[in-house]
Amino acid sequence: MKVLCVLYPDPKDGMPRSYYRNSLPHMSHYPDGQTLPTPQGRDFTPGTLLGSVSGKLGLEKFLKTQGHEFIVTSDKEGPNSEFDRHLIDADVVISQPFYPGYLTAERLEKAKNLKLAITAGIGSDHVDLAAANKKGITVAEVTFCNSISVAEHAVMMMLALVRDYMTQHEIARSGGWDIADCVKDSYDIEGMDVGVLAAGRIGLAVLRRMKPFDVKLHYFDRYRLDAQTEKSLNAIYHDSIESLVSSVDVLSIHCPLTAETDGLFDKTLLAKMKKGAYIVNTARGKICNKYDIKDAIESGHLAGYAGDVWYPQPAQQDHPWRTMPKNAMTPHTSGTSLSAQARYADGVREILENFFAGNPIRNEYLIVSDGDYVGTGKHSYAKKEAVNQ
Ligand code: NAD
Repeated sequence: MKVLCVLYPDPKDGMPRSYYRNSLPHMSHYPDGQTLPTPQGRDFTPGTLLGSVSGKLGLEKFLKTQGHEFIVTSDKEGPNSEFDRHLIDADVVISQPFYPGYLTAERLEKAKNLKLAITAGIGSDHVDLAAANKKGITVAEVTFCNSISVAEHAVMMMLALVRDYMTQHEIARSGGWDIADCVKDSYDIEGMDVGVLAAGRIGLAVLRRMKPFDVKLHYFDRYRLDAQTEKSLNAIYHDSIESLVSSVDVLSIHCPLTAETDGLFDKTLLAKMKKGAYIVNTARGKICNKYDIKDAIESGHLAGYAGDVWYPQPAQQDHPWRTMPKNAMTPHTSGTSLSAQARYADGVREILENFFAGNPIRNEYLIVSDGDYVGTGKHSYAKKEAVNQ
């Protein structure tokens, strides 16, 4: 079979020759009891760079030994890209949300042999899921592989915004000691109202991590948490997005990008937020209107915006979030720490092993299959809500 894999380019100075740390902590289960990926083999050293072209997700030996054709590229834009040229007869496409090979309806139409699209990570909105359903293409992702990675990044960004870490770091780097400038926008998060939009794997992990900061926790999700979890967090459940956003000082967004959430944070919803509120968005860039966010920051209605998700990716040079005041943006990195890469490389291999052997792919990895939303797709992406990219 032909396996086509889109990965981000290697580091500018070439692949690392050494790493700070020699190993990763051992883990067998995620917080909800789900086991980590269980591939039959592994041809990489955990903790090394796997997500860039030369890392090849550690799959080269496995695929070539089995006689498959394996194409790895970072050239993904435009009709003459390597991605488009090989897509025509690819059986499997693998891509990471950090550097997505967008599988639009038009591209899927050209991909006559395509049977399986694997997201090496979480969030399959870069695939036109409605079109994949129509064509009976299976879409699978490595559920939970980087949920905690993202939760850690979101907590870091909440603290960075509220304490105004960005200003203070910049002053220290540039040789200054201007304490008053450092602290004129700096607060403690203790006692603040902190909320998450969606309390799935990431949102719940953020709530759990924020609890020890002695904040008041809030959330909205289409599914309410069980009573015991809610009680242990002392979290307030809101029955609408509007109720949540108008109640919190800090909001962290953790829902998937669907037709329902596409452009959700526009000027109307932003106007309902408290003056001086902060937004962290590690879910998907398109959930927030980029110009309305910029206006809300520049007018002083929002006190800060952070996140690692943009649209499209890579983001254009003049994307307003790169330069607007009080931003703590990163490129899309939260889910591709070296720790996460080892988990999703294992997960992709597990999916491929099952696919080649004709065995079922874990239900929790499935988004769409046999023309319908199944597994995690059924729970987290409602039918008819897939967004056309
Ligand atoms: P999950 O499937 O465990 O949770 C998603 C939750 O969103 C579910 O509880 C679902 O009920 C809820 N939801 C869906 N639509 C909603 C809506 N309209 N309103 C309120 N709640 C809604 O997924 P997860 O692992 O927590 O990941 C969530 C999202 O985070 C992914 O879909 C992806 O877009 C993003 N993500 C980003 C990165 C990154 O590197 N930045 C990595 C992983 C995931």
